[in-house]
Amino acid sequence: MPGEYCLKCGKRLPEGSLKYVVDIRVYADFDGVLDFPRGDIEEEVHRLMGEIERMDPHELEKDVYQEMAFLLCKGCRDRFMEDPLSRGEGPYPAGEGSSQFIH
Ligand SMILES: [Zn+2]
Repeated sequence: MPGEYCLKCGKRLPEGSLKYVVDIRVYADFDGVLDFPRGDIEEEVHRLMGEIERMDPHELEKDVYQEMAFLLCKGCRDRFMEDPLSRGEGPYPAGEGSSQFIH
């Protein structure tokens, strides 16, 4: 059957129908503050370089930048725009930081 499907509800989106692409880019926010270690900086840099070399490059990239795109029908787009962070489902589980939200 020609046409595409809404990724959220599975509704068929025939050619020429109203459909939306949700394009999401998530990237690390840098506030300009570097946390310099106390003690031997050179030793710390070597330690970090070793840590980075042992990490999976894909995982490393995901930590810095990720993008994804979803095709949605109008109903699912409307619901997404009303609550893009799914706050109606409650906050995300608390991470290691003291604050869950930056804005
Ligand atoms: Zn839908």
